Amino acid sequence: MGAEQRILSIDYARKLDEQDVLAHFREEFYIQPETIYLDGNSLGLLSKRAEKALLSILDSWKQYGIDGWTKGEHPWFYLSEKLGEMTASLIGAEPEETIVTGSTTVNLHQLVAAFFHPNGSATKILADELNFPTDIYALQSQLTLKGLDPNNHLVKVKSEDGRTLKEEDIIAQMSEEIALIVLPSVLYRSGQILDIKRLTAAAHKRDIVIGFDLCHSIGSIPHQLSEWDVDFAFWCNYKHLNGGPGAVGGLYVNKRHFGVKPGLAGWFGSRKDKQFDMEHTMIQATHAGAFQMGTPHLLSAAPLLGSLAMFAEAGIENIRAKSLQLTDYMMALIDAELKQEDFTIANPLNHQQRGGHVYLEHREAARICKALKANNIIPDFRAPNGIRLAPVALYNTFTEVWETVQRLKVIMNEEQYKQFENKRDEVA
Ligand SMILES: *Cc1c(COP(=O)(O)O)cnc(C)c1O
Repeated sequence: MGAEQRILSIDYARKLDEQDVLAHFREEFYIQPETIYLDGNSLGLLSKRAEKALLSILDSWKQYGIDGWTKGEHPWFYLSEKLGEMTASLIGAEPEETIVTGSTTVNLHQLVAAFFHPNGSATKILADELNFPTDIYALQSQLTLKGLDPNNHLVKVKSEDGRTLKEEDIIAQMSEEIALIVLPSVLYRSGQILDIKRLTAAAHKRDIVIGFDLCHSIGSIPHQLSEWDVDFAFWCNYKHLNGGPGAVGGLYVNKRHFGVKPGLAGWFGSRKDKQFDMEHTMIQATHAGAFQMGTPHLLSAAPLLGSLAMFAEAGIENIRAKSLQLTDYMMALIDAELKQEDFTIANPLNHQQRGGHVYLEHREAARICKALKANNIIPDFRAPNGIRLAPVALYNTFTEVWETVQRLKVIMNEEQYKQFENKRDEVA
C-alpha cells in the first residue's frame, strides 16, 4: 500500500490510538454509546472526577450548612483562589495572577471597567470584526457608560478573507487614539491562533493596555501570559476545560497591575482577613482575587476541582501535541476522502496558527450538520456556512476521527443532508 492508502485504513487509526499516551483519560468521561462527540470546544463533556468534585461540595453543604465556608474537604471561602491556582499553569501565570470567578462576559466588563481610561486623544478601544458577539456588546456598553459613542470609539480590525486576521493589520491600527485592545487568543470560527507575544509587545511599545479572550485556547493550547507580559485575560471554563454548562469563568491580571481598583467592586474582592469586618471602606485583595464581585457560584465552580486535576496530570503540552495530531489526521482524511465535495478547510493549516478544531465551510453546512447528528456525530454549526469539528485530546480517539470522515462521505454520496432544512436550529 502507498502512504496515502495506508493512512486511509482503519488499522492506521487503531495504531495511532494504541500509541496515544493520553488514551486512558477517555475512560474517565461519560461518553454516550455509539456517539462521536466533536463539540468539546463548545461544551466539554462531564468527567467522573468533575462529577465527584461537585458531589463533594454538595456533601459539605449537607454536612456543615453555613460552616461549609471554612470546613470540609474544600472550604468554600477559598475555593475561587484554589481553582485559580490550579488554572495558572495552563496559562503560564503565577497562582496569584489567576482567579476563577464570573463568566467571560462579566469578567470582560470587569476588566474593561478597570483598565479602560480614556485620556487625551486616546479614547478608543481596538477589537476585531470577527470577534464573538458578546465581547463586542460588552465593549460597546463600556464605551457608552463612559459617554463615548461606540460607533466611532470601537475600532474593529478588518479581515481580508473573512476568516482570519493578520497581526500586521492589527498592529497598523494601534494608533494614538487607542487606549485599550481586546482580542481573542483563538478565533472562535476559523480557530486561528493570534500571536499574543507579538501583539502584546507592539501594544506596549505604544503604551496601550492589551487583554485577551482565552475561551477557545484555554485547555487546548499552552500560553505564557506572564512571560509575554499580557495585561489581562479572561475565559470560560465550560469549553475545553469541561467545567459544565454555565461553569464559573476565570480571569488573569498581570501582577504589575496588582492594586488597580476593580471597575465593578464587590465584597468578595476584599482581603480575606478584612472581608467580614463589614466596613464600608473596601480593602481589596492584593492579587487577582480583587476582581471578584459577590458570593461565588460554588456549585458551578465545583466540577473544576476534578477537571483541572486531570489537566495537571495530562499536561498541556501533551494535550496540544495530541490535538495537533488529531486535527492533522482529520484534515488528511478529509482531503483524501472528500475531494469530490465542495468542502473548504477554512482553518489555518500550519501548526503555529491552528487552534483545537477543524473548520469546514460548505454552502449546505446547516443541513450537513443535521445529517451528522442523525448519524450520531455531534459537530457544531456556525452560521452561515461553517462546520466546526473539535477532536478533543482528553476523550476523542483517532478511530472516531476516521469514522467521522467515513460517515460524512456517505452523507455526501447519498445526499442524506437533503432530507433536512438548510437552516440553523435555535441553539446552533
Ligand atoms: C464561548 C465564548 C464566549 C461566551 O461568553 P459567556 O459569557 O461565557 O457566555 C465569549 N467569547 C468567546 C470568544 C467565546 O468563545
